[in-house]
Amino acid sequence: MSTTVITDIGTLVTGDLTTPPVSDTTLVVEDGVITAIGDEPVHADVAISANGLTVIPGLIDAHVHPTFGEWTPAQSSIGWLHNYVQGGTTSMVSAGELHVPGLDFGHLDPDLVTSLALLSRETTGRIRQSSAKAHVGTLLLVPGLTTAHFDRLAERDVRNVKFIFYDWARLDDGEARQYVEWAHERGMVVKMHSGGVSRSGASRVTGYEIVHAVRPDVVAHISGGPIPMPDHEIRAVIDDVPHAGIEVCSSMNYRATMVTTEHLAATGQLTRLTLGTDTPGGTGVIPRGMLRNICYLASVCGLDPVTAIAAATGNSARLYGLAEGLLEPGRPADLVALGPVQGSLAGNALDSFARGDLPGIGLVMIDGLPVVFPRSEQTPPPSRLPYRLTLR
Ligand SMILES: [Zn+2]
Repeated sequence: MSTTVITDIGTLVTGDLTTPPVSDTTLVVEDGVITAIGDEPVHADVAISANGLTVIPGLIDAHVHPTFGEWTPAQSSIGWLHNYVQGGTTSMVSAGELHVPGLDFGHLDPDLVTSLALLSRETTGRIRQSSAKAHVGTLLLVPGLTTAHFDRLAERDVRNVKFIFYDWARLDDGEARQYVEWAHERGMVVKMHSGGVSRSGASRVTGYEIVHAVRPDVVAHISGGPIPMPDHEIRAVIDDVPHAGIEVCSSMNYRATMVTTEHLAATGQLTRLTLGTDTPGGTGVIPRGMLRNICYLASVCGLDPVTAIAAATGNSARLYGLAEGLLEPGRPADLVALGPVQGSLAGNALDSFARGDLPGIGLVMIDGLPVVFPRSEQTPPPSRLPYRLTLR
């Protein structure tokens, strides 16, 4: 058994928005799993001082578009997963990807979309040492799918499906609700593109009427990806589809995000808020995207930084049934240590987020292994760096 201890944690945020941050604490990891918070281990193989930094769960980017592994034709770039880890993202959930060059959007048939989902599943996240946990292989739903298609994906542990190119002229024939049931029977989460059309121009406009009729588990980029539904429909979806996760993405309309967070806050429903980047895509490849989302919510939308962090971690873990995303015993040791960058007036990372200053990352751990240490390639260094303690 291998034991790692992280000492000198200035502030620890669990990712659960109802749990207050813990000051001046330690965290113990055994074989990649958190076993204690606040207690020193009897023996440690590795000891890292967080040097007063804030430790939060590894960020979950709950809306990514992997096409083929580490290559994204969307921005003609390669190695994006590695760079996202450097931005604090340790886990990502695919929203599927059909913006594949040369694909005929007018003739998407069930076998083709199933094969494209599995192609992404088999090619993404293979370079684990430098990569995030990639929950990929998301099926984009088209008319004519059978249970055999869902079974083929379930056998490969695909856990997500999504409506985006679905023809809503068929809403009344019951097929969409049937798909939701088939997905739930297999433990899959159903996401729905919402708002105006996507970059392809081939996705369908989706507002309150369709979301309310189909009742997906997650309403994707409700504040725009890039075009949101009207404000009154955003509020009505939050009120009338009460079980669904409400997703905000970097592709957002900034004003509509304020409408969304104000309504969630006013109605006491911020546990439903989940964050993603909606990248790679037209918005770009943004390794610091999740950090910037938290900054925006905490500094402009008036959310407590702990709540904004929960939207990027614990809330998404619960929605997608992930083991990671919370710092508590029994969970994978996926975490980020971060703090203010030199020149910032912030006292700690939470203060940094509240001021809208991007914090610097000193440590990223996935399953107890330091994959970023003692500083990130993608953020300025925090003013205090973590360091390895010599064991006697
Ligand atoms: Zn998207």
